[in-house]
Amino acid sequence: MSGNKSTEKSAALLKSAFREYYFKYSKLLEIPEHLEQREFGYMPFGSGMIRHLSFRNRGDLLATLIRDVPADVYCSNAYYRFPTYPMQEKQWLGADLIFDIDAKDLHLQCELGHSYFICARCSEVSSAKSEVCESCKSTSLNQTSIPCGKCIFALKKEVRRLIAVLTTDLGIEEKSVSVYFSGNNGFHIVVSDKSFNPLDSVARSDVVSYLAGTNIMTESIGVRKSRDNSGNDFLIKFPKSGLSYGWRKIIADKLAIDQSSVVKLSNIVLRNGGYEGFKSEVGKMAKTLGVKIDPQVTMDVHRIFRMPGTINSKSGLVKMRCDDLESFDPLDDACLLGSRDVEVKSKVSSQISLKLRGQSFKIKESTLEVPLFVAVYLMCKGLAGID
Ligand SMILES: [Zn+2]
Ligand SMILES: [Zn+2]
Repeated sequence: MSGNKSTEKSAALLKSAFREYYFKYSKLLEIPEHLEQREFGYMPFGSGMIRHLSFRNRGDLLATLIRDVPADVYCSNAYYRFPTYPMQEKQWLGADLIFDIDAKDLHLQCELGHSYFICARCSEVSSAKSEVCESCKSTSLNQTSIPCGKCIFALKKEVRRLIAVLTTDLGIEEKSVSVYFSGNNGFHIVVSDKSFNPLDSVARSDVVSYLAGTNIMTESIGVRKSRDNSGNDFLIKFPKSGLSYGWRKIIADKLAIDQSSVVKLSNIVLRNGGYEGFKSEVGKMAKTLGVKIDPQVTMDVHRIFRMPGTINSKSGLVKMRCDDLESFDPLDDACLLGSRDVEVKSKVSSQISLKLRGQSFKIKESTLEVPLFVAVYLMCKGLAGID
């Protein structure tokens, strides 16, 4: 069958699976506060983004989802006086503070072992990392990944680290923090706290810098630039406010020092070659110890962000709220499509292993019958199609 025909068949199957979901699970659609002041956007299957939409109520939105069945649905974190106007005329009123933690930013060792490289030109799939497509020699390859247990464990750990900083260092109440599985390979964290809503992009970028530990002053952990009696270029003088909070605590814990460790800290600085060397060492430590978020997402106050309760077309899984992060299993809890058998054709020559809804699947034959939720997952990942 021609490529176009099979792409059309794939899109039709995805659309019918997505529509069924919106019928059955409309209760999972999470309507944001200030609904009528939000900008909505969606990506239809096979065409570009439609933005600057608004909806009056849940029914209005749901009717559109069931009628048009978009591949992806987005809603602004900002609220505006006129959400449907062009950006300059919308009149920005505020925005939720949002964070995106994605497995790709964690640089996990397991990643390459479950990644595939898909040619953007001829859609040839390779499980080995390569700079060019084996088949058409194009250099435009997209990486896709089937997350493993280690990825999910690491993501949850990062989410907990973020929440700890938000609630401890930034004083945000835990009840104002909502955690969502992104629907693919990450988590979204949304803060609805009135005192953060008015922050502009510059202020949000300060929040990002704090989380990343950019430009930590060595003075805050007790190392000052100065000549001492023995000719060193630094002095140890611990801050009066102590070492028991924020970044100074993180670094102090890492160095295993406290306010009485003058000699120990002095030796650490000397080992790093003095003030400048120590400063750069602290910078490196912050890089590993900082929370790994996507800075662009947090700084952008006009973003339209995936809407909770909608399907992510990169996986067929649902972006959904995690009330209990510990027990939440994205590959089970967020996998809500139907289970009738459908026939798909694998595009991968090696065996694909995946676990969805508690069942393990090993896909090696080129054409085989699998439950709809598995077929959609593989198709959304670009690893299978319909013949
Ligand atoms: Zn190719
Ligand atoms: Zn992994």
